[in-house]
Amino acid sequence: MDFKFESMKYIDDNRDLVCDVSKKVWEYAELSLMEYKSMELFCKVLEECGFDVEKGICGIETAFSGSFGSGKPIIGILAEYDALSGLSQVGGETEKKELVKGGNGHGCGHSMLGAGSLAAALGIKKYLESSRKSGTVILYGCPGEEGGAGKAFMAREGLWSKLDAALTWHPGDSNEVSSGSSTSSIQIEYRYKGVASHAAGCPELGRSALDAVELLNIGVQYLREHIPKTASVHYAMIDGGGVSPNVVQPTASVLYMIRDTTVKNNLKLVDRVDNIAKAAALMTDTTMERVFIDGTADTVPNNELEKLMYENFKYVGAPKYDEGEIEYAGKLKQTYDYIPDELPGSGTNLNSEIKNQVEKIYHSGNKIINDFIIPHVPNDYRSPGSTDVGDVSWLTPTAQIRVVCYPHNSPGHSWQNVSCGITSIADKGLIVAGKVIAGTAIDIFEDPSLLEKAKKEFIERTKEGYTCPIPEGVSPIVPGS
Ligand SMILES: [Zn+2]
Repeated sequence: MDFKFESMKYIDDNRDLVCDVSKKVWEYAELSLMEYKSMELFCKVLEECGFDVEKGICGIETAFSGSFGSGKPIIGILAEYDALSGLSQVGGETEKKELVKGGNGHGCGHSMLGAGSLAAALGIKKYLESSRKSGTVILYGCPGEEGGAGKAFMAREGLWSKLDAALTWHPGDSNEVSSGSSTSSIQIEYRYKGVASHAAGCPELGRSALDAVELLNIGVQYLREHIPKTASVHYAMIDGGGVSPNVVQPTASVLYMIRDTTVKNNLKLVDRVDNIAKAAALMTDTTMERVFIDGTADTVPNNELEKLMYENFKYVGAPKYDEGEIEYAGKLKQTYDYIPDELPGSGTNLNSEIKNQVEKIYHSGNKIINDFIIPHVPNDYRSPGSTDVGDVSWLTPTAQIRVVCYPHNSPGHSWQNVSCGITSIADKGLIVAGKVIAGTAIDIFEDPSLLEKAKKEFIERTKEGYTCPIPEGVSPIVPGS
C-alpha cells in the first residue's frame, strides 16, 4: 500500500470540507486574539473527524489543539487564523472595494494558512489509521500571530517541547521551502498619565502626558545612532491625548516594537528604551505605566527538515492555473505594478547560482503567477522581520514552506491578498501546502533516522538554550486595550 499516495487522495477527497473552512474563516475575519468563531469552526471539524480537541490551551481562549493517534513520534502542525484591521475587501474583485465598512480582512492569508494546516492534519490522520504505526499528529490553533505572538506565550508554557517536530506554511507569491532565520521582536506600550489644565489660562497646573511621549520619541531618536546595526526600533502612537490643543493632554501612550538578532540581545535594547521612557516621565512630572504586549524569538532553521519538505514539495508539485485564474491574477497584478518586479524567492537575494536558475525558470513562465518550485538552498540569512514560529523552533525541530496563493510580487497585508483569499488560486495553494506537510510527516513516521538527523541538528543549533521573550505572569493583550 502506498500510504503517502492514499493520504494525498484523502486530502483531495476532503477538499470541499477544507476549502469551506478557509472561506468561512475568511468571512469571519476576526482580529488577533479575538478569533472565537474561527476557533470554534476548526474545533467542530476536528471533532467530527475524530480528533481529541482541547480548547483554550495555555490560558489563551482562542487557542486549541486537536490530536489524533497515540505514542511517538509526535508531529505538531501549526495553524493561524487571525485577520487584519481595515482590510475588508470583496473577494475575487480586481479593484479595491470594501465588503464591510471599516471591517477587517485576511490580508496575510491566515484563513488559508489554518485550512491548509487542517488539510495536512487530515492527511496524516488517514496515514496513521491505515498504517497502524505508532505516532501522533496534533493540529495547534495558534491565535494572535498579528501582534499577539500566541506561539511565544504557548512556548512559555513549554507546549512545544513535547513535540518531535513542528511543520507549518505561509501563503505567498512563491513556492519555496523557507530557510534562514528571523529577528527577535518585543513590543512594549508606554502609557503616560499627567494632569489636564487650561493650556493658556493655567498651564502651570498641567502636566502633559503628550510631552512625555514626545520626549520619549526624541530620546529614542538619539538612541538609534548607538544601537547595533542589526537592531531596529519602530513606534506607533496609540493615544495622543485629546483633540483640543487648549487642554494640557492628561493621557498619551505609544507602542514600541524593538528588534534585534536574538532575545538576549533584544532584551538589552529594551532596557535602554525603558530608561528613556522613565526619564521622559521624570522630565514631565507625569507617571508612566509600562505594559508588555508581546515578543518573539529569532528562528532556528533545520536544514534536515527543510530537505525533507523540499522532496515532498517536488513530489506534490506546484499549483497550476487555468486561463481564467491567470486572467484574474493578471488584472490584480496590474493594480500593484508600481512595485518593482523582483524575482520570486528569498534565496535569490543570497546566491547567484540559484538566482540564475530562478531567472531562467521565471522568464520562461507567464510572470503573472509563479507556478514553479524554487530550488532549495539551505542558508543562514537572517530576515529583518519576525515571526512567533521562531519560539516554536527553539523548542522542537521546525520547518515551513511558502506556497503561492497570490500573483507574483503581491504586496503583503494588502486588499489584493484579501481579494485572492477566496478564489480557486487560494484553494489550490492551501491544498498543496496540506499535502506537502502531510507527506513530510509521513516520511518521518516511516523512517525514524530522518528525525534523528533533524534532532541532532536541532540540539547543535540550540545549545545556548531558549530565552522566552514573554515574562512570567503576563497574559496576551491587544495593544491599546
Ligand atoms: Zn502571516
